[in-house]
Amino acid sequence: MHELTINLHMHTTYSDGSGTHADLGRAALKTGVDVLLVTDHNILVQGANEYYRDGKKRVLVLACEEIHDQDRDPQKNHLLVFGVDRELAPLADNPQSLIDAVRAAGGICFIAHPVDPAMPAFGETDISWVNWDVTGFTGIELWNGFSELKSVAKGKWDAVAYAYFPEFIPHGPLPETLRLWDELIAKGQRVVAVGGSDAHAQHKSLGPLHKIIFPYEYHFSTINTHTLAPTPLTGDLIRDRKMVFDALASGHCFIGYDLPAPTRGFHFSAQSRDSTAIMGDEITPAGAVTLQAKLPSAAEIRLVKNGKVVKTAHSETLVHITDEPGAYRIEAYKRYLGKLRGWIFSNPVYVK
Ligand SMILES: [Zn+2]
Ligand SMILES: [Zn+2]
Repeated sequence: MHELTINLHMHTTYSDGSGTHADLGRAALKTGVDVLLVTDHNILVQGANEYYRDGKKRVLVLACEEIHDQDRDPQKNHLLVFGVDRELAPLADNPQSLIDAVRAAGGICFIAHPVDPAMPAFGETDISWVNWDVTGFTGIELWNGFSELKSVAKGKWDAVAYAYFPEFIPHGPLPETLRLWDELIAKGQRVVAVGGSDAHAQHKSLGPLHKIIFPYEYHFSTINTHTLAPTPLTGDLIRDRKMVFDALASGHCFIGYDLPAPTRGFHFSAQSRDSTAIMGDEITPAGAVTLQAKLPSAAEIRLVKNGKVVKTAHSETLVHITDEPGAYRIEAYKRYLGKLRGWIFSNPVYVK
């Protein structure tokens, strides 16, 4: 398997972002990212799928979409839609119909910022997902860089300080979002977790201060979704696009906060006497199964089964042998800027 680093969920001048697709592509070339999934609000931008190159480095930019019902009051239910060629935004008033249409069109979709608190100091309202009776979505955006700012900044000046020192913001997925995810997967539902940046790179003024809030390049070095794909990018757009969406759909991915230390190279797998599985997969072992996590550098590793920590290690590896069924996933934490911060969140291996 080959690791592809994907940064997903960002906005351009087609919605409320400040950069063009080309600006984003050029910013990504300065980082470790291979693929950008651009998700403007309620518009599928045509003609923007393109490779950007600098020497041997190549970044694939794919235009996708973030859809919500703009007439709904209050605003809720944002859905990230990938791999669909036609405009589905007119279906936004019924989240289930929208999800069904995504699937019928061969696409995948993720509930964006499932828990998204209000930030009254900047006029931002709570835009959480509320229609939890829906079925058929691929997964959720477990960690969203922008929602997290809204939960850590307690007021206007706090938010200004974070704008100058954004690397102090990330701590990990919101506990409520983690709990929601664990509840869904403990029920046996397959729900793929991805990390999103929600990058806007907005220009803001507060008195004499003028600043681009969280430039694209910052976001592309921060919360990424690392997928395991059969090959590196080939340069064939149709093939690469399919490979990226297949890897996300299967849950062969983990979320990495790449500022404290590179997360590239993380692995989580399960072996039994007659079969093996990687994160996102099911395994039906005859007898015991060995779960194994390997990290690119030492960290506090937690093995979580159906929402409960069952083993911890301070190491580069964690091994656990069990015959108990459940959804097993890995969380890893590193000390960075004076705090223990979330570093790696894997998708589960489902032991049947
Ligand atoms: Zn949104
Ligand atoms: Zn967004």
